[in-house]
Amino acid sequence: MIQIDEKGFYGKFGGAYIPEMLHPNIEELRENWEQIVASPDFQEEFQMLLRDFVGRPTPLYFASRLSEKHGAKIYLKREDLCHTGAHKVNNTVGQIILAKKLGKKRIIAETGAGQHGVATATVCALMGMDCTVYMGALDIQRQRPNVERMKILGAKVVPATSGSQTLKDATNEAMRQWINNPVDTHYIIGSVVGPHPYPEMVARFQSVISQEIKTQLLEKEGTPNPDIVIACVGGGSNAAGAFYHYYNVPQVRLVAAEAAGLGINSGKSAATTVLGTPGVLHGSKTLLMQTEDGQVVEPHSISAGLDYPGIGPVHAHLHDIGRAEFVAVEDEDAMKAGIELSRLEGIIPAIESAHAIHALNMIQYQKDDVIVINLSGRGDKDLETYIKWGGY
Ligand SMILES: *Cc1c(COP(=O)(O)O)cnc(C)c1O
Repeated sequence: MIQIDEKGFYGKFGGAYIPEMLHPNIEELRENWEQIVASPDFQEEFQMLLRDFVGRPTPLYFASRLSEKHGAKIYLKREDLCHTGAHKVNNTVGQIILAKKLGKKRIIAETGAGQHGVATATVCALMGMDCTVYMGALDIQRQRPNVERMKILGAKVVPATSGSQTLKDATNEAMRQWINNPVDTHYIIGSVVGPHPYPEMVARFQSVISQEIKTQLLEKEGTPNPDIVIACVGGGSNAAGAFYHYYNVPQVRLVAAEAAGLGINSGKSAATTVLGTPGVLHGSKTLLMQTEDGQVVEPHSISAGLDYPGIGPVHAHLHDIGRAEFVAVEDEDAMKAGIELSRLEGIIPAIESAHAIHALNMIQYQKDDVIVINLSGRGDKDLETYIKWGGY
C-alpha cells in the first residue's frame, strides 16, 4: 500500500525538515488543508474552474500510428491541452482556492524554467491576488518568454542572486520570504516536493489525471485499468497525478521516466534514482544528487522541467519498494521521441513529455498491452530547444 503517515512519510521518505520559524505556516496548512479541500464549497469551485478555466477533462487519445509502430495499444492523456500548456495549472488552481479560504492575500512561488511561475501568475490574475515569483537570476536570462508572460499577467518576478542563481536559490529565497510574511502569504509549491503536507496536497490536486483516465479507459476498453502507465518525473507531480489512483492496483505497472541528460556517467544528468542518495532537499527526506559532504550537485537535462536534483518523496518510496519501474532517458533520445510523436500523431510534445514517449523503447511489454502515456505538456515553450538541437 502506498500511504502517507501522520508525519508525512511514505515509508522512509517525506516528513517536514524545516526551520523553527516556518513551523506556524506549515502547521496552519497541515491542520486545515484536508478539511478545506473536502468541503463542498471548495469542490464546487475547484471542479468549475477545472472544467471552464483549465479545460478538463482532457482527452484520452488513442494514438493509432504510434501504437502500430510500437505494437501496443497506446493512449495519450492530453495534459498538453490544459490552459497554459501543461498539467501544472491543476495544482495552482487548487492551491489558490485553498489560499483564499485560508484568508491569504498574497501569493509567492519559486520557479526554475518559469512554467510553474506562469501557472501561478495565471491563477493569481484569475483571483485578483498579489503575486511574487522568485527565480534564479541566471534562469531569468535563459527563460525570457516565461518571464515576460508572468509580467503580462501582473506578477512581480524577483531574481535570486545567491549561489548558482537557479531553482534551488529561488526556492531558498521564497522560503525566506514566507518566514517573514507568515500571516497574509501563501507559498504555492509547484511539484510533489517540499515539506509535508505539500507533496500529498499537490498529488491530490493532480490526481484528477488518473481519476479521468479510469473513467475514460472504462469507456474505451471496458476496464479502468491499463497494463502500464508511463510518465516523466522532474519533481514528480504529473507522474503522481497519473499514478495516484493506481498506486494500490498492483496489476497496473507504473513506469517513471527520469532525465539522464548527456548520460548517467557524464556528470551532466538528472537521473536521481540512479545517482541519488537519501538526504534532505527543500524540507523533505528524499533521494537527491549530492556530494559526499552533502552539497547538492547541479543537475542537467535538455528539458528545463526535469532539471531538478531530487524527486518527490513518494517517488523515492515507489523506487525503494519497487512499485514503480524507473528508466533514465538521454537528451538525444528524448528529442528524437519528440520528433517521432510530432510526425506520427501531429502532436509536438514538451521535451519533458518526450522522455515518457522514449520510455516505450526501454521497457518490456506484451503485444497489444494497453499503455497510457501522460503527455504532461505541449512543445510550444520548447521551440527554441528543438531549433537549437536541429535534428529533424
Ligand atoms: C514542470 C513540468 C514537468 C516536470 O514536473 P513534474 O512535477 O515532475 O511533473 C513535466 N512536464 C512539463 C510539461 C512540465 O512543465
